[in-house]
Amino acid sequence: MDFDVSIIGAGPGGIFSAYELVNKNPKLKVAVFETGHPLEKRKCPIDGDKIKSCIKCKTCSIMSGFGGAGAFSDGKYNITNDFGGTLFEYIGKEHALELMRYVDEINLNHGGKGTKLYSTAGTDFKKVCIQNDLHLLDASVRHLGTDVNYIVLKNLYNELKDKVKFFFESPVKSIKVLEKGFEVVCDEKSYTCKKCIVSVGRSGSKWVEQICRELDIPTKSNRVDIGVRVELPAEVFSSITDELYESKIVYCTQKYNDYVRTFCMNPKGAVVNENTNGIFKSCYTANPKTRKYLKNRGIY
Ligand SMILES: Cc1cc2nc3c(=O)[nH]c(=O)nc-3n(C[C@H](O)[C@H](O)[C@H](O)COP(=O)(O)OP(=O)(O)OC[C@H]3O[C@@H](n4cnc5c(N)ncnc54)[C@H](O)[C@@H]3O)c2cc1C
Repeated sequence: MDFDVSIIGAGPGGIFSAYELVNKNPKLKVAVFETGHPLEKRKCPIDGDKIKSCIKCKTCSIMSGFGGAGAFSDGKYNITNDFGGTLFEYIGKEHALELMRYVDEINLNHGGKGTKLYSTAGTDFKKVCIQNDLHLLDASVRHLGTDVNYIVLKNLYNELKDKVKFFFESPVKSIKVLEKGFEVVCDEKSYTCKKCIVSVGRSGSKWVEQICRELDIPTKSNRVDIGVRVELPAEVFSSITDELYESKIVYCTQKYNDYVRTFCMNPKGAVVNENTNGIFKSCYTANPKTRKYLKNRGIY
């Protein structure tokens, strides 16, 4: 076998899988296959001048590469079971929170020290919400910010690069089941492994659907939330963002019983476009301090 474990996708899912495997068992031979570029080579060609909109690069530097979709994000890590996934359904709420705190610890130890952890615990804002027929979801949120998020990813890569074999610009085409393991098929070469972790995020969702069909693995679709971008002067929301940074406030509409909620707040942030299979979504990222930094990287 070429590797003990092959991981497909170098987003947070893939990176933390690799991190855990090699730290728990340094003898393991682990490989990570990633469609996109290494972190320092990730650059979106949109410069707002010569190139104003998406030119559909072979691999999208916003969505792909070391760090995955959120590499240039605002670096908000929510520690909660109230939203952002259903891990607790598999391992229980307390264990899920423990793991989120564990990830937070890793981020802090890799350059995130000194960043702020906001929390809804004990906030008067909860009462104000209830008085207005709104419900504030419980969460703590670590705000790394775009610049620190990048540093954390860089440090994680530097720590992993000698322990893990990274294959960048290497989209995995298919996975074959062998008698005692798997064969990971790339464009030019195939690699065998005992175990295979597929962690390809949203940009790889169509591909993973096809793989599951081929391997007879059942799939199910998650709910899709539709977002509306609302831009207001930062001062309007400062009473919330200063205290909580990001808040998830839920409202149930009276006429149709639809649930609506706020998400992804980004005071004084910039906007980047996420392109997933031709569907564009605007995401907030960065504060003014880091806009210049993003501009240099061609991201904003
Ligand atoms: C602009 C932006 C801002 C965001 N801000 C936040 C935030 O502040 N807080 C937050 O919690 N979340 C945020 N998100 C969401 C967050 O980034 C994702 O939830 C997270 O990246 C998911 O991690 P993942 O590892 O599952 O997948 P991804 O990060 O999508 O990583 C999957 C990786 O797999 C690779 N891949 C796909 N197919 C293949 C293949 N066939 N072969 C090889 N590689 C493949 C992709 O190139 C990608 O790098 C943001 C997202 C964006 C786009």
